[in-house]
Amino acid sequence: MSDDKDTELADALAEAGRRLGQALSDGLARLRSARDAVADAANRPEVRAVTESAARVLRHRPCLCMCARAHPEDGGICEMLDAVITGPSTSELLGTFGVPLCAPCAAARVVHHF
Ligand SMILES: [Zn+2]
Ligand SMILES: [Zn+2]
Repeated sequence: MSDDKDTELADALAEAGRRLGQALSDGLARLRSARDAVADAANRPEVRAVTESAARVLRHRPCLCMCARAHPEDGGICEMLDAVITGPSTSELLGTFGVPLCAPCAAARVVHHF
């Protein structure tokens, strides 16, 4: 290792750092204006209505019942976006764990198990 190489490396690092800093501050400036635009949009009533209904949808949990396996006789009963309880599910890989289930699936599983 010569001193020359060290200097080259230091120069290269300094240059890389300078470019990174420039890219970061460019990015931050863009982010700031994007955030302002989003904040403006979020305060408009029609956008507010959309985000509130999206939040309502997101409160629903999906039913993660493996219908075809857990209750093959009742395939079409699943209310896929309306899981209301957590039921046990058994997997060879994971053992027994809790999965969100919708009411019809939970009932069908109970029937199927007995
Ligand atoms: Zn099911
Ligand atoms: Zn279901």
